[in-house]
Amino acid sequence: MLNKEFMARDLAVLWHPCTQMQDHESLPLIPIRSGQGVWLEDLEGKRYLDAISSWWVNIFGHNNPLISTAIKQQLDRLEHVILAGFSHEPAVELAERLVAMTPDRLSRVFYADNGSAAVEVALKMSFHYWLNRGEPRRQRFVNLSGSYHGETLGALALGDVSLYKDTYGPLLLEPIVAPSPDAWQGQEGEDSYDTAVRCLLEMEKILSANSGEICAVIVEPLIQCAGGMRMYHPHYLSGLRSLCDQYNVHLIADEIAVGFGRTGTMFACEQADISPDFMCLSKGLTGGYLPMSAVLTSEDVYSAFYSDYASLKGFLHSHSYTGNALACAAALATLDIFANQPVLENNVKLAALMMDSVSTLTDHPHVGEIRQTGMVLAIEMVKQRETREAWPWQERRGLEVYQYGLSQGVLLRPLGNIVYFMPPYVINAEEIALMGRVAIEGIERACSQ
Ligand SMILES: *Cc1c(COP(=O)(O)O)cnc(C)c1O
Repeated sequence: MLNKEFMARDLAVLWHPCTQMQDHESLPLIPIRSGQGVWLEDLEGKRYLDAISSWWVNIFGHNNPLISTAIKQQLDRLEHVILAGFSHEPAVELAERLVAMTPDRLSRVFYADNGSAAVEVALKMSFHYWLNRGEPRRQRFVNLSGSYHGETLGALALGDVSLYKDTYGPLLLEPIVAPSPDAWQGQEGEDSYDTAVRCLLEMEKILSANSGEICAVIVEPLIQCAGGMRMYHPHYLSGLRSLCDQYNVHLIADEIAVGFGRTGTMFACEQADISPDFMCLSKGLTGGYLPMSAVLTSEDVYSAFYSDYASLKGFLHSHSYTGNALACAAALATLDIFANQPVLENNVKLAALMMDSVSTLTDHPHVGEIRQTGMVLAIEMVKQRETREAWPWQERRGLEVYQYGLSQGVLLRPLGNIVYFMPPYVINAEEIALMGRVAIEGIERACSQ
């Protein structure tokens, strides 16, 4: 009853993200009163395993004592101060540590307050860099099919998920779309490496035909998450780095979802041994506690802006909460956990358990593929295994998995027909087994009629 009463209050005033609000005429809204580790608890005391890290942000569990304590300590000193003309210890220490841990070329940190804003910063910086260097004709960006970079207009334009984007088409920049190396969409007889090679040839055609007009290529390294947890071979990234060097365009790595250990390495770019010109970080950066993002870039980019005020070469972009001290403290505590605990080693074991937990689905007639990169595992539900024919999206079979999951106390939130696990790294073997069992049962149900 408590949940229902709360829901009425909520629906009288709130407009929820990424939601057709009419769905709540039949779908319950779950009011959460507390969280602990991988568990969320609603007003009636029912618990839900957060298998999606609260939209991919929470990496070390809810109410993590180390992160909570760090924020409380910072709170007694300084909550926030303007970062233009002023500075503070947590902002500098965090920047020093991010520079030290990210690929070589990255030596400068610009803070923003969410992932989309970080993407906007990278796009504007890249464009402005070329302008400052005397190349005003460079006004275009290249993206990959199936990509996702956020919801603000610039970031939305650079994405390619039609459900989010098409409605706003008339308002958006037009990127040049290169084919995604997504292995699931590989051609007959190709393995993931072959798909990467073929897609690099396509990218080369685009760059050679347009390089004088292109600012940057933007990609999600290794996994296109919102586009359906599509995974690709790291060779694509190393090849893309070479092409960007050869044709002299920037490479923007959007590691907002995959950074901080998600793919098995601290940053996905490490698996291809590349340094991008811009790296966007957010989501796991603060352990899922506070909104914050960072754009890292090179000394070359930074120096193109460094000049007399009157030259108008400066990057005059800002957000009110840039470099928020509480968010920096949360991020520093998150980095401390990586520094002091064998997180990545432990994740190798957790990742293997995740795969074990759903291995019985391997030959299921309605499972097209189970794919995994590090701490992301995705199960592609299909109408027909052999032909890989998709279920019509209107049937909303993923929603059935979601509802079944909730009834069993597991928060799964499929992307269309793709059921995935992206849990906090503090999940244990028993919890993984529960997550796997509920996903299997949910898929059985959703695919049974
Ligand atoms: C979530 C996400 C974003 C946008 O971040 P927000 O904080 O939601 O604005 C951008 N890029 C990728 C790859 C993401 O997964």
